[in-house]
Amino acid sequence: MSCEGPTIVAIAEGALVELEKIIRNYSKPLCITDELIHSEYSKYLEDIIGQTCRWIMANSYTRNSIQDFDSVDIIIGFGGGTSLDVAKLIAGKTGLDWISVPTAASHDGIASEVASVSHDGYKYSQKCKGPLAVIADTAIISRAPPRLKLAGLGDIICKTASLSEWKLAHEEKGEPFDRKVYSIVDNALHTVLKDDRIETLIQAEIDAGRAMSIFGSSRPCSGTEHAISHAMDRTSKELHGLQVAFATPICLFYLQKAGYTEHGFEEILSFMRSRQMPTTFNEIGHSPATFLDDVHHAGKIMKKRERYSVLEHLNVDDANILSAMRDLGY
Ligand SMILES: [Zn+2]
Repeated sequence: MSCEGPTIVAIAEGALVELEKIIRNYSKPLCITDELIHSEYSKYLEDIIGQTCRWIMANSYTRNSIQDFDSVDIIIGFGGGTSLDVAKLIAGKTGLDWISVPTAASHDGIASEVASVSHDGYKYSQKCKGPLAVIADTAIISRAPPRLKLAGLGDIICKTASLSEWKLAHEEKGEPFDRKVYSIVDNALHTVLKDDRIETLIQAEIDAGRAMSIFGSSRPCSGTEHAISHAMDRTSKELHGLQVAFATPICLFYLQKAGYTEHGFEEILSFMRSRQMPTTFNEIGHSPATFLDDVHHAGKIMKKRERYSVLEHLNVDDANILSAMRDLGY
């Protein structure tokens, strides 16, 4: 068991003002952001907290760079996934607290302790530190490009597959399982399936991150659909959430065959299509041959991580995957 998630959560229009109450107890804030957010909101943020910040642009930070953080007593991650990941990494390295201030709702990492790190073209997860607080100002988040929200929805609706596969792996192979964690993620999933407003989505992302922290691993929120997305990263620059959603129907198709899901692939496909999320190779800019190779590679990733995949469970072969891709309209 690990930490139970952020102690302070504020999701509202204008929620950024809440930052002042937290920062009051600190005097040397470091803010990790990107150029765009910096140019639009740096003065606004400093006015709110009544202090000047030291600013670091997330894309200029490398893990091995020698930087002095002695003059810092709190870290603010202010931006998209990269800014929050760098804030987590520095918090993990220095032991300092960090505050998550997302400017988009594009993935479930806004409140998690795990950062996504790129190395040699591969992305992997590194355990760092969960945030002290999450301040989600919907006035800022609603100005983010709409595709980022779709990606955020994708990173939640893929839990239809990850949760079912987790149960399968537990029942068939005895992988560790936690009923409380399962229901936190399941509840987050169902709220978003019923109501996809930005506030609901952000709360679901925070809950998914909290569930992973409690369980101490990403397993509840990340199954074969995530492994396929990691394999896609080798050739695609598409948003994480859109990739995992793209891989979800085929995983659900097999989970249905294995008798392990209450969600049909049709339900998720119609959710995705009604919101113009990419569901075909054309729409996501990926070829069937590359995707077939990604599915193979995903099997290897799952094995390496000692996670039982529905593909292994059903002993799925190439002919089978190709016909599933056709049947599902990929
Ligand atoms: Zn994800």
